[in-house]
Amino acid sequence: MKTFAFALLLSFAAVAAAADPIAVGRDYHSFAEPTAFRVKHLDLDLQTSFEDKRLSGVADLTITRVAPDANKLTLDTRDLTIRQVWWLKSARELVPLRFTLGARDAMLGAPLNIDIPIEATPEFVVRISYQTRPEASGLQWVAPAQTADKTDPFLFTQSEAIHARSWIPLQDSPQVRMTYDATIRVPPGMRAVMSAQSENNDSAKPAADGVYRFTMPQAIPSYLIALGVGKLAFRATGPRTGVYAESATLDAAAYEFAETEQMIEASEKLFGPYRWGRYDLLILPPSFPLGGMENPRLSFITPTSIAGDRSLTALIAHELAHSWSGNLVTNATWRDLWLNEGFTVYLQGRIVRAVYGERRESMEEVQDLDGLRKDLGKLPPADQILAIDLRGRDPDDVFTQVPYIKGALFITWLSDRFGVDTVDKFLHDYFDHFAFQSIATEQFRGYLEAHLLPQKPRAVTAAELDEWMFAPGLPKSAVLPHSDAFALVDVARKNWLAGKTAAADLPGKQWNTHEWVHFLDGMPAQVPAAKLSELDAAYALTASGNAEISLVWLRIAIRNEYASAYPKLESHLTTIGRQRLIKPLYEDLLKTPAGAERARAIYLKARPNYHPIATTALDQLLLRKAAP
Ligand SMILES: [Zn+2]
Repeated sequence: MKTFAFALLLSFAAVAAAADPIAVGRDYHSFAEPTAFRVKHLDLDLQTSFEDKRLSGVADLTITRVAPDANKLTLDTRDLTIRQVWWLKSARELVPLRFTLGARDAMLGAPLNIDIPIEATPEFVVRISYQTRPEASGLQWVAPAQTADKTDPFLFTQSEAIHARSWIPLQDSPQVRMTYDATIRVPPGMRAVMSAQSENNDSAKPAADGVYRFTMPQAIPSYLIALGVGKLAFRATGPRTGVYAESATLDAAAYEFAETEQMIEASEKLFGPYRWGRYDLLILPPSFPLGGMENPRLSFITPTSIAGDRSLTALIAHELAHSWSGNLVTNATWRDLWLNEGFTVYLQGRIVRAVYGERRESMEEVQDLDGLRKDLGKLPPADQILAIDLRGRDPDDVFTQVPYIKGALFITWLSDRFGVDTVDKFLHDYFDHFAFQSIATEQFRGYLEAHLLPQKPRAVTAAELDEWMFAPGLPKSAVLPHSDAFALVDVARKNWLAGKTAAADLPGKQWNTHEWVHFLDGMPAQVPAAKLSELDAAYALTASGNAEISLVWLRIAIRNEYASAYPKLESHLTTIGRQRLIKPLYEDLLKTPAGAERARAIYLKARPNYHPIATTALDQLLLRKAAP
């Protein structure tokens, strides 16, 4: 997932339980007990109802009995209505099973306990008839007005971290991997897509009866099960790549992401074969709360990454890289998220370098480091640790820059000590070794000690490894990126601020998104209104359709009360739902009484368009403070 720093407010000190040592590999965020029973396959049959915002149908779970005497199966659910549960004793015999839904935990949802007959062994199928509720945390039902085409509604799922349980009853833990089949019934004219192979899907036109069948033959964790439903068109961009999008976005998306096949080829050269068949992109409505989500075979992508000049395609490199780090070798628990995200950011850099060159890679790395430093400045020490203690906390809290950028800098540090080629080869073998497994930090450490360290015995010490994995902050030995391109932008900014260069004479027309963001981000707190108007007149910054540039420009506008940009501020906040692009603006507005008033007025208008994941974080910021 590509998402940054929205959970800082939720980062309270860990719970009392933190005094006990962590049981390595134990998932504290699931009620499931995979040592008793383990789900190995899921077969879904769901009807999509946009009118009452519900999915309704049955889930057949194929389950392996692990403990011979176990008689209770516990599944994760959140806000599901469970209608009936059966044991499929044979093709013709459905045996009703007793079940109870436990008390609802605000963070984890409610355990579904099912009595299992002792003769159900060694493998059996449980059928659950259920429906979701409109408030399901993993589903967003988007109204037609909030889509690109504005003609039809849109539904998309976001299962990571623990939201799959809000639309499917299952063992919602990254260490339980399953294959799946699905039949999805949607209104005729609409199209369903999933993180799976389409069985009956002619990508050129939607199914006349609205029934779509899918199969995912590779075993994946629950957080990678994904569904999108909308009035979607398809355009191929390569032999195994393509884009699903609404008509209004299709051309722009197909152009922007035309280099995806090249990225796959570059990745395969470095890290081994791409094992998932096709790699398509689903372009979501702007309310998607994240940058992207690495759902296998079909990454979910924010339309705010379409800049028109392919300058934000590192996002695609990121989601694609997850096909190795994350989807193939998966974190066993959310404490181990850095194994997914840190490795992925490192791979992303390797892919960007191969396809776009070192200049662009280093600009992106410098900006990533800035983001990490900002987070480290705000986070308590316990939250600056790669292998973080998340007991008693929402796993969505872990998605700060720490597992992403500090995690990537750890691999960069290894490649500095052992050589880039040696580390690439090590990663290639590591992905092979743990393919289709979910592992904990300590398993990675063991593999590292057995396979990389002996290649150069004195290159790193155990104390250094401990510091990287288990200590807060950024180790002094970190190898930090540098960008010559940004040094030139710094000079340009200085000359413009000093009045030595007119705005129109800046090299702004040649700058890409990164250079513009760097130029604006480095502005002093106060810039005279006349200077802002001059810059705006020369480059139409207020009117920019590039959401990344808008973000930094609007932040300057807020702190300098540059009123010409206020209408844009409102339209930005009411159309975009990607947290990284909206939360800093609300935070900036809240710094003054007049700004706070504007923030709350806009939020009330915008809130119905935001995803539940976004409103959970923003309500704390904007509604709690509104109370006396
Ligand atoms: Zn990611």
